[in-house]
Amino acid sequence: MSSEASVVPRRQLFIDGEWKEPVLGGGSLSSIPPQKASSVGTSLIDLEAAAAAARTSRVLVLMNWDVPAGTAEDVDLAVSAARRAFSRNKGRDWSRASGSHRAKFLRGIAVKITERRDELAKLEALDCGKPSDEAAWDIDDVAACFEYYADLGEALDGKQKAPISLPMQTFKSHVLKEPIGVVGLITPWNYPLLMAAWKVAPALAAGCTAVLKPSELASVTCLELADVCKEVGLPAGVLNIVTGLGPDAGAPLASHPQVDKIAFTGSTETGRKIMISVSQMIKPVSLELGGKSPIIVFEDVDIDKAVEWALFGCFWTNGQICSATSRLLLHENIADEFLKKMCRWAANIKVSDPLEEGCRLGPVVSQGQYEKIKKHILTAKNEGATILYGGARPQHLDKGFFIQPTIITNVETSMQIWKEEVFGPVLCVKTFRTEEEAVDLANDTQYGLAGAVLSKDPDRCSRLTEEIQAGIVWVNCSQPCFCQAPWGGNKRSGFGRELGNGLGLDNYLTVKQVTQYISDDPWVGTAIRQSCKSQTWMTPRTLLAPTKLGIAPFLKAC
Ligand code: NAD
Repeated sequence: MSSEASVVPRRQLFIDGEWKEPVLGGGSLSSIPPQKASSVGTSLIDLEAAAAAARTSRVLVLMNWDVPAGTAEDVDLAVSAARRAFSRNKGRDWSRASGSHRAKFLRGIAVKITERRDELAKLEALDCGKPSDEAAWDIDDVAACFEYYADLGEALDGKQKAPISLPMQTFKSHVLKEPIGVVGLITPWNYPLLMAAWKVAPALAAGCTAVLKPSELASVTCLELADVCKEVGLPAGVLNIVTGLGPDAGAPLASHPQVDKIAFTGSTETGRKIMISVSQMIKPVSLELGGKSPIIVFEDVDIDKAVEWALFGCFWTNGQICSATSRLLLHENIADEFLKKMCRWAANIKVSDPLEEGCRLGPVVSQGQYEKIKKHILTAKNEGATILYGGARPQHLDKGFFIQPTIITNVETSMQIWKEEVFGPVLCVKTFRTEEEAVDLANDTQYGLAGAVLSKDPDRCSRLTEEIQAGIVWVNCSQPCFCQAPWGGNKRSGFGRELGNGLGLDNYLTVKQVTQYISDDPWVGTAIRQSCKSQTWMTPRTLLAPTKLGIAPFLKAC
C-alpha cells in the first residue's frame, strides 16, 4: 500500500457537537503527505507563509487535503460551548456526574478507536510521515490511554469525601476533587492523536470540558477523534476541536479568559510564549517541552543489544521524539567497535514511504523541519564535527522530506549540535573515560526530559538514575512509555507530569477542603476550653478566631 491510494476525510471544526465552518469562512490549511512533497521549492506548510496568507486571504494553497483554519472567533465559540457543557443541568450531565458515568464514554471512545485502528494508523502515517507500523502502535496506545483514564475516573468516585483526621473533635473535614473547569489543550504533530489522548482522556475523566487545538502540521486524526466522539454520543460541547495555526488559534485559546487551565505539549519556545500569556490571568499551565536527552553506554554492555537501543532511541518516529536519546555517550574502550556496528546497522534501516511494508524511517513532517535539520547538520560540519554516517537525502528517494539516519562524531560541548534539539534523525556522539565524566556530560544541557544508562552493573545503574537530571530515566533501554508511569521533564523541558500514578488526572482536578463544625457548643467556648487544655494543636488561624470576637473575654476565661 502506498500513499497514492489513501483518502483523507474532509472535516470541519468540531464545536458544540457539530461540524462547523470557520467563522471567517472558508479558510483552510492545506496539507500534502511529506513523502510526496518535492524537496525543492514546494511549500507544504511553510508556517510563516501560511500565517501571512491566512491573515490576508484566509485561504491557503490547496494541495492534497484541507484542514479548516480556525481563528479567535472559532475559539470563542468553542470555549462558550465547553462552558455550557460544563454547567449544563447544574453540571449533573457532565462535570458533576459520577466518574463511572463519564468512564462509559471514555471506554466507548477506546472501542471505536480500536475498531478504526488500521484506518487511523494509515491517516496518521500519511499526515505526519511516521512509518505505518509505528502509527498502528500509537493508535493502540491511544485506545489504551482512554481505557486507563476510564478506570481512574471511575476510581475517583470512591476517593471522594475521604475523611481527614483533625486534632479537634469539634470539627470534621474531607476533601473533594473537582474538575478544574474548561481546559485548553494544545498539542504537537509528532504523535498527533496520542499527544491529544494524553490530555483529552484525563480531562474528560476528571469532568472537565475541553477545547483541543492540534498541530496545523498533522490535524487529521484529531478531527477523526471528533467523529468518534459523535459516534459514542459524547454530550455536545464536552470536547471541541479547533484546528488552525498556532498564533491564530492556539494563542487565543491560551489567553482566553473563560479557559481555566492550559495543558501544552510542544517546543520550548512556544511553551515560553504560552507561559507569558497565561501568567496574565494566573491561569494554571502544564508544559511538556523539548529535550536533548543523553544515552550513556558503559564498557560492560552487550554491544549488539546496546547498538540496537541506541539506534531505536534516536531514530524511532523518524527521530522526531521529544525524549529521543540524541546525545550518545560512549565509553572510550568500546567506541570504535560500537560506532562501526552502528553505521552498519544504520545502513540497514529502510527509509521509504511510510505506508510501504517494512519502512523504519519515513520523511520528516514538513519543509520547515526538513530545512531546519539540514541546517543543523551543516552547522555541525562547519563547526568541525564529523558526519560519520548519513547527513543527506537517501539516493533512492528524489522527492519528499527524507533524511538519512545521521551519526555525528568529533562533537564539542560548545557546538550547536550538542546543545540544541534537532527533532530529526540525527545522533551526536561523545566518548568518556570515567563515570563522573559521563554524568557531567549527560547533565550538560538546558533540558531535563529523559536519559538512559546502559550497563550490566546494577549499582552503577542505580547511582546514575539518581544523578541524571531528568524526569524520566531508562535503564538498559530507551523510549518505552507506559500510561501507568508518570511522564514529563525538568529544567527547560517543562513542568507538571502526564500519565501515571494519578498525576495525569490530577492535572485536571482542583482540590476543595470541606470543614464542618459539628459541636453544639458556641465556638468561643469550645476554642477557649481546648486552648486552656493544650495550645500545641492550635494553628495561628485558630488562635485568631477568638481575637476577632474580642481578646478580653478570651483572656479572662483562661
Ligand atoms: P510547536 O511549539 O511549534 O507547536 C505545538 C503546538 O503549539 C501546535 O499546536 C501549534 O500550533 C501551537 N502554537 C504555536 N504557536 C503558538 C502560540 N503562540 N500560542 C499557542 N499555541 C501555539 O511544537 P511542534 O513543532 O508542534 O512540536 C515539536 C516540539 O514538541 C518539540 O520541541 C518536541 O520536543 C516537543 N514535544 C514534547 C513532548 C513532551 O512530552 N515533552 C512530546 C512531544 C513533542
